[in-house]
Amino acid sequence: MPSSLRRTFAGLGIACVLTFTAGAQTKIVAPKNNYAVQDDVKLGREAAAEATKQLPMLNDQRLEDYVERVGKTLASAIPPEFQHSEFRYTFDMVNQKEINAFALPGGPMFLNRGMVEAAKSEAEVAGVMAHELSHVALRHGTAQATKGQKFQIGSVLGQIAGAIVGGTAGSIISQGTQFGLGAAFLKYSREYESQADILGAQILARAGYDPRQMANMFKTIEAEGGSSGPEWLSSHPNPGNRYEAINREAASLRVQGNANTGQFAEVQARLRGMPPAYTAEQIAKGQAKSNPQSSGTSSPRTAVNVPAPSSQYRTSSPFSFLRLNLPSNWSEVSGGDTGITYAPEGGYREAEGRLEGVTHGFQVGVTSKGSGNLQRDTDQLVNAFAQSNPQLRRQEGYSRESIGGRNGVRTTLTNQSDITGQPEVISLATTQLNDGRVLFLVGVAPQRDADRYNDVFRRVRQSAQLSER
Ligand SMILES: [Zn+2]
Repeated sequence: MPSSLRRTFAGLGIACVLTFTAGAQTKIVAPKNNYAVQDDVKLGREAAAEATKQLPMLNDQRLEDYVERVGKTLASAIPPEFQHSEFRYTFDMVNQKEINAFALPGGPMFLNRGMVEAAKSEAEVAGVMAHELSHVALRHGTAQATKGQKFQIGSVLGQIAGAIVGGTAGSIISQGTQFGLGAAFLKYSREYESQADILGAQILARAGYDPRQMANMFKTIEAEGGSSGPEWLSSHPNPGNRYEAINREAASLRVQGNANTGQFAEVQARLRGMPPAYTAEQIAKGQAKSNPQSSGTSSPRTAVNVPAPSSQYRTSSPFSFLRLNLPSNWSEVSGGDTGITYAPEGGYREAEGRLEGVTHGFQVGVTSKGSGNLQRDTDQLVNAFAQSNPQLRRQEGYSRESIGGRNGVRTTLTNQSDITGQPEVISLATTQLNDGRVLFLVGVAPQRDADRYNDVFRRVRQSAQLSER
């Protein structure tokens, strides 16, 4: 290393140690791929629609919320160089006994109930999920197709979609032997398996899980044997020295934080209390069907009956220094130190008493002390939002807007709602408080209702009165 660099590192003290530790992790290069990222998305979306039709879906809201929480934690821990903003990671449970899981290009993942039941810890479940996510993030499905001889995007896409769920799986189902959606296309090479193991370990560590638990889960799967074990292993063959390789990688990684795994025992208990899962054979014989969609403790996934904003307004004071007028049929749905959300009935989603998201409404919050440059601080705020909303896009630059009589900026963002899957529009306005913190005002509405709601949001912002000490 050049001496100038060494001096810099020496000057960084503890940071230099961490840099070297992190540097020891294996560098991964995604394989050559002639497909567009959008092809992955299209392919996965079509295949997922087929899968949901053919497989008995568990549809238990609590469990869906659970796997989604674990899955989203892992998805946001995918290293930035392998993040594709077009991808949408979804997680669904299949009411099937055999230990299996598969993920489709572009993000849809399906987890068999048997896999969650067999796991000894949440980290083991997360291990399989991180491995599957890695195949998706590295675009192994279409990379595999790229290697095929006849490369024509249009026709190949059709064939691949067919191979995933139609032809191959269809014939497998009718033979009643093994059931595997991934039979042809999602059968990965040993080279890709190594990559998914290594990247999976890195994702686990970044998400706060011990990466060695992935190796443990593979052992659990192997031990299951019989007719249930081999399915996952036949699509994800052992590249050789699998456990040693994972553990070696794990030794070079620093587990960041501590994932919240407290819910796992409750999840397994809930599964034990359910009628038995279907076997592959029952599914093959057409004896299995999906459970009806349950609403559980959550409001429905698609907000259908959201009342229009009232033309009457009422005054609210989300913070001691701020007063606002809001449509009188919007109420406060969550509170906290940094933010308050107002929404109409049906315009938000809650699970276990926790606000999960808003489809129609207004949020008011305060950031920690900023840089003093309002545009730069607002950029940071948008980046923070984008961390948990990968589809978030800014649609325009900043325009000036007065908020409570002081200088502010405003911009419009678009996003794909986590709750409805539909496009939504977000109006964001910010201004700086005397103590250097930034006050932000956020209106959220579905794209199709944007015009009407933008008027409401403007009116709310214009009503703001600031009275700081
Ligand atoms: Zn694999």
